[in-house]
Amino acid sequence: MFESLSDRLTGTLKDLRGKGRLSGADIDATCREIRLALLEADVALPVVRSFIAKIKERAKGAEVSGALNPAQQVVKIVNEELVGILGGETRRIQFAKNPPTVIMLAGLQGSGKTTLAGKLAKWLTGQGHTPLLVACDLQRPGAVSQLKIVGERAGAAVFAPHPGTSIGGGDNELGQSAADPVEVARQGIAEARAKQHDVVIVDTAGRLGIDEELMGQAAGIRDAVQPDEILFVLDAMTGQDAVHTAEAFQAGVGFTGVVLTKLDGDARGGAALSVREITGRPIMFASTGEKLEDFDVFHPDRMASRILG
Ligand code: GDP
Repeated sequence: MFESLSDRLTGTLKDLRGKGRLSGADIDATCREIRLALLEADVALPVVRSFIAKIKERAKGAEVSGALNPAQQVVKIVNEELVGILGGETRRIQFAKNPPTVIMLAGLQGSGKTTLAGKLAKWLTGQGHTPLLVACDLQRPGAVSQLKIVGERAGAAVFAPHPGTSIGGGDNELGQSAADPVEVARQGIAEARAKQHDVVIVDTAGRLGIDEELMGQAAGIRDAVQPDEILFVLDAMTGQDAVHTAEAFQAGVGFTGVVLTKLDGDARGGAALSVREITGRPIMFASTGEKLEDFDVFHPDRMASRILG
């Protein structure tokens, strides 16, 4: 991820190094190169525009000062603005004053929600919490058993409807008896209270594309369990589509934070660089592989340093 963006940005900034002073034309040329590099990396156009405008304004106004030569000053400005579009500070989970803290996961099918549920459970367990995973993805065949497997690996309990239960949901398209995910979510919270789990992670169904039924179901679960955090799970490989998906989830369900998955892939990184600016919501966690330990809190400054090499 970010390899080509990183190469282009560091190359462009390196070209400035020999210069004792930077003219307006030097800054314009540099900004043009940065703009192209960002667009090629699939960063959303409004994000590119505001980023370049800020760099230009700050670079032109920069005083030749102290220890930094002009080229170093531009690098510093680009770094600071990158940290800015990635969210500035790391945003931590807000735990509820009265447990359980309810964390709901939302996102498209295949974005990595179920895997994330296990990762988050393992990470929380490592911090002394006692999470309960609640299986409300009753749409995707195998999602419930997958959650049970990741829960077991993470050492966390899983609450799932018993096979064959039907709580008013009727049969789904697979001919299986379907429970109502909203009811399962409610029961999951009651189970967490009864068994004194201090965090509940609610996995929800995702479709391959955005649809109203999916949004309605997620909104129903949200209203029933009043989550403290709603994490929108975004596959970083999805390129320009990521922005559209994020906006649709923001309008349909709303979320308090973003989890970027598949950052280990070779995507161009535009989703990572756009989602915070477009939605105004912080990127809170990063998932970097299929194993449960391939997961960490998201640090905007570390990501910016990685991009600038
Ligand atoms: P869900 O449909 O949103 O629940 O998605 P899953 O959790 O089932 O993940 C879909 C696929 O992506 C699975 O094959 C996961 O192993 C894989 N996956 C999830 N997160 C990551 C990640 O960070 N990196 C990589 N390389 N694969 C991931």
